[in-house]
Amino acid sequence: MSEEPESQAFLNDFRWIMDVVQNVDVGLVLLDKDYKVHLWNSFMQNHSATAAEEVIGHSLFDLFPEIDEKWFRRKVQSVYVLKNSAFTTWEQRPYLFRFDNYRPITGKAEFMYQNSTFIPIQGLDGSTDSICVIIYDVTEQAINNIELEKVNETLEYISKTDGLTGLLNRKTWENLLEKEYERESRYHENCSLIMFDIDHFKKVNDNYGHPAGDEVIRQTADIIRHSIRKTDIAGRYGGEEYVILLPHTPIDSAYVLAERIRKKIAAKPACYEDQVINYTVSLGVAAFDPSLKSPTNWIDFADQALYQSKQAGRNATNIYQYPEKPVEEG
Ligand code: GH3
Ligand code: MG
Ligand code: MG
Repeated sequence: MSEEPESQAFLNDFRWIMDVVQNVDVGLVLLDKDYKVHLWNSFMQNHSATAAEEVIGHSLFDLFPEIDEKWFRRKVQSVYVLKNSAFTTWEQRPYLFRFDNYRPITGKAEFMYQNSTFIPIQGLDGSTDSICVIIYDVTEQAINNIELEKVNETLEYISKTDGLTGLLNRKTWENLLEKEYERESRYHENCSLIMFDIDHFKKVNDNYGHPAGDEVIRQTADIIRHSIRKTDIAGRYGGEEYVILLPHTPIDSAYVLAERIRKKIAAKPACYEDQVINYTVSLGVAAFDPSLKSPTNWIDFADQALYQSKQAGRNATNIYQYPEKPVEEG
């Protein structure tokens, strides 16, 4: 009888050991240097629905075209060169083998999320001549993480927005105003602020009821949303007070926008159940100016302009007038 080559003997030993761990709940795949499969344990058989006989001796890439060959070869080559194990997590790559997810608890996942480890296997002569790939089913962990991330995103959204209107809440809006204020203080770009308040809103509540008042507040927010640009920052500042920060916008354009919003609101009554509620708003507009002392100062000026609109009879827009700067002689 001819003697077995050393590598063959090694592979036989390896198979015997792996027979013992056939029932382990991870996938075990042994690959030679040509990426031919030499071990395909029961985990892999069950999940791929492919028997060991159909796989062993064949190239991994012919069998599983879903594997990113270029990436896989690079990964394996680094293991051969460095003689160290390498890892891939589901976050980097959701799976190596596309297996269906069958677990009832994580039924939401379409496929099995996998972590994998690549271990260099030394032949008897000490050289690395094959790689063992271990596949871990981490679907449960991945789904939990993904769900947790979604919950965190929702919590963040809730903490930043106003529940009734979906606009930014006052605190978040003020934080953004402060950032924009600092930017403007440094770069002196055009930036404007609109502040407005629903007229005689107490009467709306008194005449139509608080839920109808809520609907008016909500509709006003919708009108704002449909009137502004993506870069504009709108918030609900108080009960029926709104603020819109307009980066890169000179005061004249801010005035045009404020008037557009005012006219839209005056022309579109809110509807609550079978009640039609006509209402108006008063607005104040203030440009950024280097003379401003703080973001609060800027809000105060917009509020002063808003107050003038109220004084003038409401349903109006006013611009805050900065004092004329003395002309420097020279
Ligand atoms: P003005 O034209 O001077 O602004 O008169 P106004 O009646 O609107 O006066 P004011 O701003 O003082 O009144 C605001 C009212 O808004 C008082 C408050 O009960 C009501 N309000 C505040 N928040 C809410 C809310 O979330 N929903 C409803 N329905 N009403 C609110
Ligand atoms: Mg008010
Ligand atoms: Mg009001």
